[in-house]
Amino acid sequence: MEEERLVMSGFREEDDDQESSLRPRTLREYVGQEAVKDSMNIYIQAARQRREPLDHILLYGPPGLGKTTLANIVASEMGANIRVTSGPAIERPGDLVALVSNLSQGDVLFIDEIHRLSHAVEEVLYPAMEDYALDIVTGKGAMANSIRIQLPRFTLIGATTRAGSLSAPLRDRFGILFRLQMYTTEELMQIVHHSAGVLGIRADEEGVREIARRSRGTPRIVNRLLKRVRDYAQVRGDGIITKRMAREALQLLDVDELGLDRTDRHMLRTMMVKFAGRPVGLDTLAATTGEDAVTIEDVIEPYLMQLGFIMRTPRGRICTQAAYDHMHIAMPADARASKIDGQMSLLD
Ligand code: ADP
Repeated sequence: MEEERLVMSGFREEDDDQESSLRPRTLREYVGQEAVKDSMNIYIQAARQRREPLDHILLYGPPGLGKTTLANIVASEMGANIRVTSGPAIERPGDLVALVSNLSQGDVLFIDEIHRLSHAVEEVLYPAMEDYALDIVTGKGAMANSIRIQLPRFTLIGATTRAGSLSAPLRDRFGILFRLQMYTTEELMQIVHHSAGVLGIRADEEGVREIARRSRGTPRIVNRLLKRVRDYAQVRGDGIITKRMAREALQLLDVDELGLDRTDRHMLRTMMVKFAGRPVGLDTLAATTGEDAVTIEDVIEPYLMQLGFIMRTPRGRICTQAAYDHMHIAMPADARASKIDGQMSLLD
C-alpha cells in the first residue's frame, strides 16, 4: 500500500530528512515557474526600494510544486524572518492572535493549507491583513469592550491546493495571487541534476530523463523517485543511474511510463469498465475506488487532466480517447455518446 503512493505528491515522512538540503534557497536556483519568478522579482525589488514589506501573497496549485519553497525564498530575498504554520494547526482564534502578535516588522507569516482555517480564525485574520490590527473583545454582554491592537506590518503568504475553497473575503485580501504550474520534463531534469549533485548520486542523461518523465510534473516526486532509483542501481547495478536502471526500478515500483501508479490506473479502469465510460460524479468515484474525494481532486486528477486523460463535464468526469489508448481498453459505445453529450453541454 505504501509503495502504491510513491508518486503521490503529498509530503511524506521520508521526504523530510533530505528535503531541506534539496530545497533551492534563491529565486535563481528555483527551477521553472518563469512567469511567477519574473513578477516576484519585480515585487521584491520594488518593496525593497520603498523599504516596505511585500503585499500578502496567495500561492496555489497541487502539492509538491514548490509553494513552501517559494515562500521561504521570498522571505530570504526580503531579508525577513519567516514563521511557518498551517491552517489545521491554528485551531482557535487565540492561536492566531498569539502568532501574529509575536511578529516583527517585515516578517513573513506562512500559512500552508490556508483553505482549512476555521471561520472564527478567518475573522481575526481579516483586520490583521487589511489594517495590521487585532480587534480583541474583553468582557461579556453589556460589559463587552473591543480594543484594537496595532500590529507591525507583516506579509502573509498563504498556500493552498484549492483556491476555489477559499472564502471570497479571504481571497480578496491577497494583493498577489500566483498559480504554480506543473513542471516540464526539462525542468524536472534540471532538478534531478541538482539533487543528484547534492546527494552524490551518479546518473547519465537518459537515466535522469527517465526519472523526470515519470514524475507527474512535480519536483517532490522527482526527488523521491531519484532516491528510490539510486537504491535500485546500487543493489542491482554499479550505482550509476542509467535509462535501464531507471526503467527497471520504476517498473518494480509500479510507476508506468507516464508516471501513473496503481491508484491512477485503478481509477481510470473503474471509469472505463465499471461505469462503461459514462460520466461519473466525484463522490461516486470516491466511493467506488475507496479514495478520498479530496485526494482525487487535489492530487490524482490534476495530473490526469494535464495529460488530457480526464475531462470534467457538467454531468461528471469522463475519460478521453488518449486515456483509453494508454490503458489499452477499447472505448465503449456509451462512452462515445457521453463524450459527444459532454462536449455539447460544455459548449452550452
Ligand atoms: P509544496 O509546498 O507546494 O507542497 P514544496 O515547496 O514543499 O512543495 O516542494 C517540495 C520539494 O520539491 C522541495 O523540498 C524542493 O526540494 C523541491 N522543489 C520544489 N520546487 C522546486 C523548484 N522550483 N526548483 C527546485 N526544486 C524544487
